Amino acid sequence: MNEELKKRIQDGAVVGAGGAGFPSYAKLAAGADTLVINASECEPLLDTDYILMREHMDKVVDGAKIIMECADIPRTLLCLKEHNAHRLSLTEGQKLAEGVFVKTLPDVYPIGDELATIYEATGRLVSPGNLPITKGVIVYNVETLVNVSFAVREGKPVTEKWLTIGGDVEKSVVLRVPVGMRVRDLFKKFGIVVPEGYAVIDGGPSMGQIINPNIAVVKKSTKGLLILPELIPAVAGKKGDIKTQISRASSMCCQCTRCTDMCPRNLLGYPLYPHKMVRTAINIAEMTPDMILTASLCCSCGVCETAACCQNISPRNVILEFKSILAKNRMKYVATEDVVADEYRDSRLIPISRWKAQLGVTPFDREGVLVDPIETVGTVEIGLNWHIGAPSVLAVKVGDVVKKGDKIADAAGGLSVPAYASIDGKVIYADDKKVVIESV
Ligand code: SF4
Ligand code: SF4
Repeated sequence: MNEELKKRIQDGAVVGAGGAGFPSYAKLAAGADTLVINASECEPLLDTDYILMREHMDKVVDGAKIIMECADIPRTLLCLKEHNAHRLSLTEGQKLAEGVFVKTLPDVYPIGDELATIYEATGRLVSPGNLPITKGVIVYNVETLVNVSFAVREGKPVTEKWLTIGGDVEKSVVLRVPVGMRVRDLFKKFGIVVPEGYAVIDGGPSMGQIINPNIAVVKKSTKGLLILPELIPAVAGKKGDIKTQISRASSMCCQCTRCTDMCPRNLLGYPLYPHKMVRTAINIAEMTPDMILTASLCCSCGVCETAACCQNISPRNVILEFKSILAKNRMKYVATEDVVADEYRDSRLIPISRWKAQLGVTPFDREGVLVDPIETVGTVEIGLNWHIGAPSVLAVKVGDVVKKGDKIADAAGGLSVPAYASIDGKVIYADDKKVVIESV
């Protein structure tokens, strides 16, 4: 392991650009023979990774080379869906650099689930609850590798975020903005007013979260901001509260098992049975510790809720309730044995065009247009706990004048990364949770 490179990735505050913000340096481990670049951009309406690859493939490949050198990995597979490969004129098996090859994935949902991507790319199935490294694989997202390249080659920490603004808007745009920019300021720049009866989603329509655009800010993991009608299935499914879900399930679940038959994690051979989770939630089956633990295997893809259940029940929301209890208690299911994928898996994955229709987002499917980055804003609010692990440790005080790229918080001990100012300005608020900087 090249500890020097690893340290530079940590110093650059590089975290997973699309997930829960896992510090990228901490993924590096000995024993990997394959780096998988997850470029599948599985969520409809998002073009962030596609535009990044189109504009900065050199940086993506350079980031991959750094990771390969750092962890002594001989092979990289750039995994992207067939339609994006076509748009980028890339072909299956194409060599992009020494040891770096293209791997095309079918246009199905949810192929961007890390475990599904690994399985499609390498034929290896990570055992439930285990890390990809146990199968010799490390996975990074496209933007994460761009950030690795900037951090290591140019000493530039992460201060910007690439995202798509889309949904029911005139034009879907892709751009980079300062980390911590307020969503309301961003919408103002584009003349976007969220109409009555619409919601704003941070992320994709399938797995993103509803946010309040008046108080939300762009985080390091924000891949998209979508303005969508509340009545379409993509949004309606996120609004149901758990009590309503359980009461609906009590009266309407017929235990048809369709949610389990279509669950992508179950199809990978994982012992996750959404219909049984619903059964335990509505007290018609005994809750066993093992059963509850399997909730941690759910990737929240929403297939059970949007595509499988014809009774308008959300097994996902029921499982999310169990998952949050498990997370609070730091518990998860960990298998000690390998699993085997279901023989019907390929035929049960959902073509992306059908998935868009099921979510109700087909009318809003517009190609993202690259627009100029936003450099100056009124204020940015930077969280010191936007990553997995220990929060960054505050290193500035109110009144300090900072430049873009200045350190505002140090990495804590253990798993942690520092934080940096994303604009030139003055610190107007600082505590152990966040720093607010006003541009000058
Ligand atoms: S698909 Fe719906 S009705 Fe069928 S078992 Fe699952 S939750 Fe119950
Ligand atoms: S959201 Fe539903 S379909 Fe998706 S992994 Fe979880 S239980 Fe399975």
